[in-house]
Amino acid sequence: MRKVEIQLIRNATLKLNYAGKTILVDPMLSAKHSFMSFVEQGKDLNPTLDLPVSAEEVVKGIDAVLLTHVHPDHLDPKSVEVLPKEIPFFAQVADKEAVEKMPFQQLTLVEDEAKYDEITITRTNGKHGPKELLEVLGTVSGYVLQAENNPTIYIVGDCLLDADVEQTIEKYNPDIIVTNSGGAMFMGENRILMDVQETIAVAKKAPKAKVVAVHMEALDHCTVTRESMKAEAEKAGVEIIIPKDGETLIF
Ligand SMILES: [Zn+2]
Repeated sequence: MRKVEIQLIRNATLKLNYAGKTILVDPMLSAKHSFMSFVEQGKDLNPTLDLPVSAEEVVKGIDAVLLTHVHPDHLDPKSVEVLPKEIPFFAQVADKEAVEKMPFQQLTLVEDEAKYDEITITRTNGKHGPKELLEVLGTVSGYVLQAENNPTIYIVGDCLLDADVEQTIEKYNPDIIVTNSGGAMFMGENRILMDVQETIAVAKKAPKAKVVAVHMEALDHCTVTRESMKAEAEKAGVEIIIPKDGETLIF
């Protein structure tokens, strides 16, 4: 099995070293307080903290970009500015209109599956909140990455834990699962991201997988802290890996 490196940049932004390629997932590279709050209208309060390294450093050496959906905490104007335009850029079909307006020259819209060198990228479904918010929040995807002699990675995306996510775990039996676990609240009322308990449920559902929880402590509507995640996981007797911003995990 080849080694895989996953560097958490911040929020859901990951720099993966997988099957010989460096893939940047969900680039949000803006400086602190450069775009809108998701809690207080009319204020720029996000992201709530700066990148651990410069945006230029993040994009250095990347071979491709993989986007789960076009919300500004997954692809922001700063990223569109600094990303190389000529490298492969994979996005969900649902974001066709938005991404086709961007200056990326090698766009692949993934409906079910795409091939990238040795890597098979399979798009997975999920829901970015309860039923009544799905129209407002739009379609989101996750991806399963597979390559021979490499661990299978499931990037869940901005999803609640539901049958779609459970079925993906059953079908692909991933070695590594990355969950967006910030427990974000929409208008203070509805939860639109996995929280601690759902992340623990993922870890219980996939006891052999390494579960990596991200999308915490970078946006003002996220309620889960790394500390609460760690404490609750310990209480539940499951292992959840909680990287710091900038930290690289090697599997
Ligand atoms: Zn998000």
